[in-house]
Amino acid sequence: TILADQIAAGEVVERPASVVKELVENAIDAKSTQIDIYVKDAGVKEITVIDNGEGILQEDVALAFFRHATSKITDRNDLFQVKTLGFRGEALPSIASIADVKVETANIAETEGTFYHVRGGKTQTKRPAAKRVGTKITVTDLFYNTPARLKYLSSLQTELAAISDIVDRLALSHEQIAFSLYNNERRLLQTAGNGKLQQTISAIYGIQNARQMLEFSGQDSDFSVKGYISLPKLTRASRNYISLLVNGRYIKNNQLLKAVLKGYGSKLMVGRYPLAVIDIKLDPLLVDVNVHPTKQEVRISKEEQLCELVTQALKERLGQENL
Ligand code: ADP
Ligand code: MG
Repeated sequence: TILADQIAAGEVVERPASVVKELVENAIDAKSTQIDIYVKDAGVKEITVIDNGEGILQEDVALAFFRHATSKITDRNDLFQVKTLGFRGEALPSIASIADVKVETANIAETEGTFYHVRGGKTQTKRPAAKRVGTKITVTDLFYNTPARLKYLSSLQTELAAISDIVDRLALSHEQIAFSLYNNERRLLQTAGNGKLQQTISAIYGIQNARQMLEFSGQDSDFSVKGYISLPKLTRASRNYISLLVNGRYIKNNQLLKAVLKGYGSKLMVGRYPLAVIDIKLDPLLVDVNVHPTKQEVRISKEEQLCELVTQALKERLGQENL
């Protein structure tokens, strides 16, 4: 029901950045190699995501807006080894229940595409459209029917920073995808999508910073970790500059964050943090991503062991540098 979707939206869609996150994750899951994001007024006015992924079949377009209609999980066992970013099938219905959503999509196997328009959870239009393989989704009037949410939005600057932040993380975790982000026609990010993490880091944090970061890696029987970390002299003052990636998913995890800071070691000045990208790979069975609707919190088995590995890998690498 629309009400159930609106309730789910309360958890999934906190602000414009949440919409950007869900739409871009879908584009990633659709195996896109290029994803362009255009927002107007920090997404409060409009959010458009254009991808060149698989597209949605005509008969599936309306279905994608039904609660728990996911094409990504077919049986219960899949839930324990989620390989896609989405799997709960609640993002699109949630967003559509509290906004105006227009979709243009085409699947390679079909001769024409589809245009679909839904507003406040109610289908407005569905008709054939020109074929352009991939998907374009435009969201306007976000929170138009939930005035309380609208009222609690922060300044446009803060909302834009949140969008930028999430796109940065998604780009960092998918260096094989070319991302661009524009606000009111001003370009904020463009990545090459050539599979080189260091180039993505450079696009986000600047070429100077990227050049001076150290590459590190570590491995044990369960985990493999690699990434880049800044030298203490480049230290930034925010923990926001530490990106934790687990099997290509950007996550938040306090224990791991602490492990990074510990590995960064005694050179750490109070309240200062490194610029770091920590890319962790593990058997999907060792991680539970179904903890929260936004899927940013994860539970990792053998978390202590992983933390120790991360700390040691960083210590070793930084130790080689005679700081
Ligand atoms: P989930 O990602 O958890 O499956 P969503 O509500 O985010 O649920 O999306 C519902 C479904 O719509 C997806 O399972 C997918 O089949 C389809 N879909 C959404 N966005 C795209 C896209 N950009 N390209 C292709 N398919 C998409
Ligand atoms: Mg999704």
